[in-house]
Amino acid sequence: MEARSLILSRLFSDQPAFRLRQVEAGFFRSDWYSWDQVSVLSKDWRVKLSSELPWMSLHQIALLESAKHDTFKAILETGDNKRIETVLMQNARGFWSICVSSQVGCAMACTFCATGKMGFTRNLTADEIIDQYRFWMYFLAGRHDLEQRISNVVYMGMGEPLANYEKVKASLRAFLTHTDMGPTRLTISTVGLIPMLRKLLTDESWPSVRLAVSLHSADAKTRTDIMPSSYPRFLDDLAEWTGEYFQKFESRRRHLTFEYVMLAGVNDTSAHAEKLIAFARKVGKVKINLIPYNDTKSKYSTSESSALITFEKKLLDARVDVTRRRTMGADIAAACGQLIVEKKAA
Ligand code: SAH
Repeated sequence: MEARSLILSRLFSDQPAFRLRQVEAGFFRSDWYSWDQVSVLSKDWRVKLSSELPWMSLHQIALLESAKHDTFKAILETGDNKRIETVLMQNARGFWSICVSSQVGCAMACTFCATGKMGFTRNLTADEIIDQYRFWMYFLAGRHDLEQRISNVVYMGMGEPLANYEKVKASLRAFLTHTDMGPTRLTISTVGLIPMLRKLLTDESWPSVRLAVSLHSADAKTRTDIMPSSYPRFLDDLAEWTGEYFQKFESRRRHLTFEYVMLAGVNDTSAHAEKLIAFARKVGKVKINLIPYNDTKSKYSTSESSALITFEKKLLDARVDVTRRRTMGADIAAACGQLIVEKKAA
């Protein structure tokens, strides 16, 4: 699949440069929802372009709305008939956050995650990541009853973003160029691929976006049990990487979070809290985000609220910077870890 920007630069090769820029910016205008609206081009050009380049790389298969109208989930299909999911959710400021997928399926196989059970099909292209945002932009433009502003994008849908590093980076750069979102409005969540985390330390073109690392246990054995991509030295490697990251990008310190999904009896006991505190002390001041486990028909269950409160209090008492994630969209299976697309009947 050739990238939209390459096709366009070929087609526009003998045109003035501003034409290409106008069209590229036009992909992020909510009032241009097909080639027909691209009024800066002649009719002949629009006809030519619509036959050579689809306006959108994804089309809607289904759309679900939560009872509270604060979370929406869309199942979208790619040009080669692969299905992915993307979520629109209202954030604490009343604006919208979009959760995008970066791959079809995922190879990381985390045992508590529904996407992990699907296996891996392929990486998404940068256009397919960008078009999840554009899908919701057009959706909101047609829903005058809803707040219009999209303020954040989180890469927390299907897939491991750092396993699709270049395309994810290209999509981040497009959001930074064509929307009003700055780098701290964009968050990449990663299982913790150390070679890729290392790569971004020296990558001048990696934007200063927020990072969230799925820690989920500060005990090496527990982490490997629940996350097969882990390994005995992982926690040491992550601590070392974090030190380098803070040294290199002191200003991004506040924009690194460790995620911790609370699984009853697995990683929510006081012994686990102590290990987490020790790990947090070792890496210096970091934020821990506790995530209630969302049901994925796995062997796990959500921590009792008393266990969650005790765990959180232990961290707070030890002066660890801890927050708790709100669960949204569970009634439409749009919450973290619930994204899965049923295989189509043959
Ligand atoms: N591959 C990325 C993005 C995954 S989804 C990563 O590993 O970070 C975003 C977050 O939701 C991750 O922290 C992931 O571990 C977590 N998650 C997965 N399944 C979950 C579930 N069933 N309940 C709550 N959080 C879950």
